[in-house]
Amino acid sequence: MPGKHIEVSHVHTKEGTYPPIALPFSKRVEEIKRLKIDKVHIADKVHFKENIKKKISIYERFRGEAGEYKSRFSFGFEIIDVLFAPENRYVEIYGCDIQDLGLWKKCPHALEEVCELIEKSGGILILPHPYAWISVRDSGTRYIVKKLGYRPAIEINYSMRVFPVLNFMARKLAEKYDLPKVYGLDGFEEPLYAALNIFPESSLRDALRNNSITPYFSSVKPGVTFKRVARTLHDFGCAKLTGFSKSH
Ligand SMILES: [Zn+2]
Repeated sequence: MPGKHIEVSHVHTKEGTYPPIALPFSKRVEEIKRLKIDKVHIADKVHFKENIKKKISIYERFRGEAGEYKSRFSFGFEIIDVLFAPENRYVEIYGCDIQDLGLWKKCPHALEEVCELIEKSGGILILPHPYAWISVRDSGTRYIVKKLGYRPAIEINYSMRVFPVLNFMARKLAEKYDLPKVYGLDGFEEPLYAALNIFPESSLRDALRNNSITPYFSSVKPGVTFKRVARTLHDFGCAKLTGFSKSH
């Protein structure tokens, strides 16, 4: 069976997020070198009031730091403001795989602007953190889907499984609106292989379109049992990571 595509969504960095407890970007570069993960989506937090230009300059620096591994990282924003859209709903948006960061020179201020900017800059619209937006039921999702006409992906699980019931509710919500499901690391110190999106397509975008992602979650601690993870992945047909296990 040929190796499947593996991507990690929703990863934080020490330099770009707060509190600054996440691993530095250089550690993620080291990991991607070892793990042969196809793509890692960095999504550091931003506030509307924050100067997004500063974040973009950090991302530019990251690109230089990643060197030949540059194309295996994508950069996006986790916009964590409480967005009071016209009808007072709480929404968090995660713009992933944004290809034209230059369009983000001016901070967006409304939900509509955020969605438009993510799409315009070649990004993928994701609703992260089930606990945040489910708190007011599904009004935020309904607004984005029905009023604004977008088809965002929903992060239905992430590596910090603090509230499993909310992950369950997020899955139900994705099914209700027939939205693609994605799995997030939301990683601060978690290793990349703690939460993987595995799919046959060659990009997350295509996999979301086909809603074809198989998740892999591991509660293992950093650097301890990668071999075990790799063996399990072998059962998924993930030859790439299994190859790694031979030399580590
Ligand atoms: Zn996050």
